[in-house]
Amino acid sequence: MPIRVLDAATVGKIAAGEVVERPASVVKEFIENSLDAGATSVTVEIREGGIDYLRVTDNGCGIEPAQVRMAFENHATSKIVSAENLHDIRTLGFRGEALPSVAAVARVEMTTRAKGQETGVRLRVEGGQSTLAGEVGCPEGTTIVMRDLFFNLPVRRAFLKKPRYEAGLIADCVARMILGNPQVAFKFVSNGRTVYHSFGDGKLRHAIFAVYGRETAENMVEIDRFEGGMRIFGCIGVGEQAKSSRAHQAFFINGRSVRCALLSQALEAACRERVTVGMYPMCALNLVLPPTSVDVNVHPNKLEVRFRDETGTRIAVEGMLKSAFVTRTMLELGRTTPPESRIPEVVVEPVPNLPPAEKSNADTKTDVSKAKTEVDNLKTEVCKNKTLVANCKTDVGTDSSVPSESSDFIGQLQLARRQLDRVSPGNAHVLQEGIPARLPALSENEKPAAPRTQTATDAGASGAKGDAPSVLPDAAPSAPEFRIIGTLLKTYILLETQDALILIDQHAAHERLQYEKLKRALEGKVAAQQLLTPILMRLSGREMAILEDHLDALRETGYEVVPFGERDIQVRAVPMIFGQADPRPQILSILDTLSNLGGTPLEARREQILQAACKSAVKAGDALSDSEITQLLADMLATGAPPTCPHGRPVFKRLTRREIEKMFKRIQ
Ligand code: ADP
Ligand code: MG
Repeated sequence: MPIRVLDAATVGKIAAGEVVERPASVVKEFIENSLDAGATSVTVEIREGGIDYLRVTDNGCGIEPAQVRMAFENHATSKIVSAENLHDIRTLGFRGEALPSVAAVARVEMTTRAKGQETGVRLRVEGGQSTLAGEVGCPEGTTIVMRDLFFNLPVRRAFLKKPRYEAGLIADCVARMILGNPQVAFKFVSNGRTVYHSFGDGKLRHAIFAVYGRETAENMVEIDRFEGGMRIFGCIGVGEQAKSSRAHQAFFINGRSVRCALLSQALEAACRERVTVGMYPMCALNLVLPPTSVDVNVHPNKLEVRFRDETGTRIAVEGMLKSAFVTRTMLELGRTTPPESRIPEVVVEPVPNLPPAEKSNADTKTDVSKAKTEVDNLKTEVCKNKTLVANCKTDVGTDSSVPSESSDFIGQLQLARRQLDRVSPGNAHVLQEGIPARLPALSENEKPAAPRTQTATDAGASGAKGDAPSVLPDAAPSAPEFRIIGTLLKTYILLETQDALILIDQHAAHERLQYEKLKRALEGKVAAQQLLTPILMRLSGREMAILEDHLDALRETGYEVVPFGERDIQVRAVPMIFGQADPRPQILSILDTLSNLGGTPLEARREQILQAACKSAVKAGDALSDSEITQLLADMLATGAPPTCPHGRPVFKRLTRREIEKMFKRIQ
């Protein structure tokens, strides 16, 4: 479609506003243009935080010589024709504002060669005046350079932060673009130093590797769901991958990087039990839905969207995200990283991205020798990255789910449907190595000789060794086995598996199991059990007041407590799963928790009561007997509960052979 000036009525409908706030907003607009132009390779280079110099080069479709000037006119766009199209936007740009806005506040130079043209053209625009430099030899695609941002607006320039900080914001922006467009190879160079270099092979996990490194890339959980006309796909990081802020939650709606409180809420609700209190899940999640059900024309910077049906979308997304986790086993004896998620060894770790605030404090100068080393490092990195790309190309895994054309909505939906039908019709597609909940009996000659050697079969037999086969009839033949090494510091159960040492925090595990049982019991409404003899307790005045405020929530969780006079209470019933154990520590722990929960809704208080009850039911430092350990392991293997305690702490850790060998410098 040729570039044209929109009619006045359409222009009026596009809300006015500022596009250029800082260098990062310029980078965002330029990259979006490159993506809309169908680029598969985009290089961003900046100097001094992009304030002095910023360049974006792409291999997209370029602009016809006759149209180059037009691209810089106000509200000139090739992406929509009239306001009608605003309801159905399929490109990242559509307002025709970015180029003229940038050109009004900085010196801009565009060199572009359209597909099929012999040569390119160069256009300089400065303070609204454009000069066509005529024909130039250049590759197909577009290079746009911006210099001296706000040179003619000193007030705005004064508001910019230090170059380091601005560079950090640009790095963040590029990182999001990498995560949202794994099919595009991005390179980001700041002051001569390569910060990111993504592969552009279409694999989201490789894009994550380019931004966050191996550990994160291999451990994020992959999700791909299609439901009610909406597809959600991407990766989520919980547990160890959780972060202390929401800065690492990258959301894309129909390929557009957005800030979205609604998606953050849905994600956090879905991951609540897998993330420690005060931490946030991280993600790179794509939501694909009909363009007509979302309004992207909310703000000139196009960073926010509005859903037609907010509540419906939030509930649906939360449900879909939750289902990504349910099929996992609490104790995963094998490797959690499926083979297709592993990142080839040859690749060096990319330079980690420091948060902008940290960057702003650092030294801004790069001396010559350092720069030289960095260039050398870069060369090595590029070579190695090439190796990776070569490797990746031969690796045709089922996870190549990332569509090759982010703006091709129909294509994405069709791809989503095909993939889901192929993998598991109507079900969550969790790309997780299937670890069976129950393990096979070992044949006699397979059994290890150590005295405390057990198999999961023994564990499955609930401590009664010898009758295992009847308990575990349908075990998978290739399931991993383990040997119980013993207990460490009266707190951790140590297991040896085929290629790893597993440390289980027995209290965290026990707490989670109790919590799950209690929750299930409550769902079945058979939670309370009368005590044979009611227990009398004396409380402090404050505790008494808290108790009286929350009697309803306590009753709902299975505790029947009756106040007796000023400060005495009688505990008549407790949740069934705690049996006839002394309920006093539980009650005190619950009251302590409730003291901070004044006006919290009943549902949330119930949850807190459950957590407090389970915590106190597990006494710290208790050594477990052999049969208790066996039972615990059997329970863990038999349940799909999250591998975290109800407060989000991990239940077990795996130290692989590779990690151990690295520790002893056997390998690098
Ligand atoms: P918008 O992206 O909203 O259309 P812009 O001001 O960002 O508005 O760009 C104006 C036009 O210039 C675009 O519609 C597009 O046709 C063209 N253009 C800008 N950047 C590029 C690029 N990197 N490659 C090809 N065409 C481009
Ligand atoms: Mg644009």
